[in-house]
Amino acid sequence: MKKQPFFSPCDLSNYKTEFTHLLEENKRKIAALAQQENPTFENLIHPLDELSNELHLKWSTLSHMHNVVDTDEVRNVYNEALPLLSDYQTDMGHNMPLFKAFQQIANHSSFASLSAEKQKVVANGLRDFRLSGIELNEEDKAQFRELEKKLSELSCKFGENVMDATYAWEKEISNITALKGLPEHVINYAAKKASEKEKIGWILTLEMPCYLAVMSYSENRELRQEMYAAFMMRASELGDKTFDNSGIMQKILSIRHQLASLLGYHNYAELSLATKMLDKPEKVLNFLNELLSLARPFAQQEFHTLQQFALEHDHIEKIEAWDVPYYSEKLQKQLFNFTSEELRVYFPEPIVLTGLFNLVSELYNIHIEPMQNMLSWHPDVKCFVIRDNHHHEIGYFYLDLYARQQKHGGAWMDDFCSRYRTLSDELQLPIAFLTCNFTAPENNQPALLTHDDVITLFHEFGHGLHHLLTKMEILDISGISGVEWDAVELPSQFMENFCWEKSVLDQISSHYQTREPLPDTLYTQLIASKNFQTAMQIVRQLEFALFDFHIHLDFEPGAKDDFIQKTLNEVRKKVSVVPITETNRFQHGFSHIFAGGYAAGYYSYKWAEVLSSDVYALFQENEVISSEVGHHFLNSILSRGGSDTAMNLFKTFRGREPQVEALLKAGGLLES
Ligand SMILES: [Zn+2]
Repeated sequence: MKKQPFFSPCDLSNYKTEFTHLLEENKRKIAALAQQENPTFENLIHPLDELSNELHLKWSTLSHMHNVVDTDEVRNVYNEALPLLSDYQTDMGHNMPLFKAFQQIANHSSFASLSAEKQKVVANGLRDFRLSGIELNEEDKAQFRELEKKLSELSCKFGENVMDATYAWEKEISNITALKGLPEHVINYAAKKASEKEKIGWILTLEMPCYLAVMSYSENRELRQEMYAAFMMRASELGDKTFDNSGIMQKILSIRHQLASLLGYHNYAELSLATKMLDKPEKVLNFLNELLSLARPFAQQEFHTLQQFALEHDHIEKIEAWDVPYYSEKLQKQLFNFTSEELRVYFPEPIVLTGLFNLVSELYNIHIEPMQNMLSWHPDVKCFVIRDNHHHEIGYFYLDLYARQQKHGGAWMDDFCSRYRTLSDELQLPIAFLTCNFTAPENNQPALLTHDDVITLFHEFGHGLHHLLTKMEILDISGISGVEWDAVELPSQFMENFCWEKSVLDQISSHYQTREPLPDTLYTQLIASKNFQTAMQIVRQLEFALFDFHIHLDFEPGAKDDFIQKTLNEVRKKVSVVPITETNRFQHGFSHIFAGGYAAGYYSYKWAEVLSSDVYALFQENEVISSEVGHHFLNSILSRGGSDTAMNLFKTFRGREPQVEALLKAGGLLES
């Protein structure tokens, strides 16, 4: 009988040897499986899953350690093993006998009698083979590989240019009055920068915390203007030419277009949507334009309010781009008189966790209990078991909440293993790693969280539940596997909504000394601050999303050098409600789409919010913490993994397709 795996630190000295051996063994076994005369789901795909599962267990241990205990030793082993894994995966994508075996299964008369889930697994597999270029002739295949290589070099160069241009700029300040309004920690930062360079005074930089602080707090309008201009010219033809991304961006678009053409798509946007819930360009454009027409009038109103405020406050007749964050900050402070730090005392971590566990227990009829004596990677890590109402174990998670040295920043959910029925008919239960970087507890006090921290925790917990409460037993569609890319944030963003609910806040807040829950006055202000400039934020995201989508949809070979700028100008004319300068070259630093994975996919941020708001609205239409709706959500979406399309799952839950209005209702713009 196979034992349930749990985390155990890997033996670093032997890792590379063992990992290499495992990959070789897998390749040998896969070659044998693919040679079978009559491949079926049971004799091919199920054994393949078994091999993938073993490999994942081995790899996820190391990659998790790399994330949370990144010592030199771990990093060296990780850097040695990573290329081995990516070569292995590339080989799999180009494994012709395996592809043919998948095709045989799909074309066999018995295919129709396979369960819908199994059919989906086969279809996903075939799609991924095709997207890796397996059907191309040898010549095209070579070109495909060459283009992919060039693309990754260019993306890398794009990111480097942005970084180098950011660090290349600095401004020396000799008179402290020029820094009026800046928070003390930023002034200290600027003084430290100066002393590092053996200069007297202060040095401001374009690094995010410094730049954002100047834009939001500096009372020196000329300084804001100067830094805004410098920031928005980074890596463009208007800045230092050594870091100019113009040519790189054009080449990236061209290569993406060629890759799409080789695979038989009209443009890169179509290729990007091959793995997404919104599977046609018109669907994406309809969504973005519908949201725009709903949100823009509100955004104009919000901007008008801001302009009025600046006029009354400082006699500013016309707000410029570098005034927007500054007056927004001032207006916000006037409207809601609290800081995020003030809220910390109401959110001691143990209370928040207990409240969160109670909430999901009520929604999904589960029980969460701590586990003792579990091996982990740090004494602060806690391990929990989830049980159903018959007290059967259904999953486990490790919670690693505090920032510390050698731990990567940010917050995320990672899977250690998935729910999966093995070849020997044993059920492996899912395990998640939930990682955050909150301020660690001090002086025998509990850790105190900001409201943003609470939201982060709920968000990652939502990903965790998607992985842990799955009822699927086939690896490729279990938990978050096989879920379309633009729908994967639904369960996480859904959980965030509860952090604004009075009944939930009463459960998760308690002053760490006086034990009183969050006072009503603070609650009212917190809610009001949530909806501050919502429409302006939506419209800003729409500008980025429409720009991203149009350059990938409309690009044609031989496009002129000004194609990108022209597209952006057109989008801005239609979308933006705030002033933008002629020299704004935002696109030259848009790493999400030129150096990251969001190309023709930036819309996903907003789309996932529509999905999660619309799902949450059904809870609100009932008593919010409704076990009945919770049960329905669990059965129609949360437990279903990638077993069906996200659209079908959504329709099962809501009885209709998603409605864009839900997002505006959630933002307080429309009556719910
Ligand atoms: Zn997320």
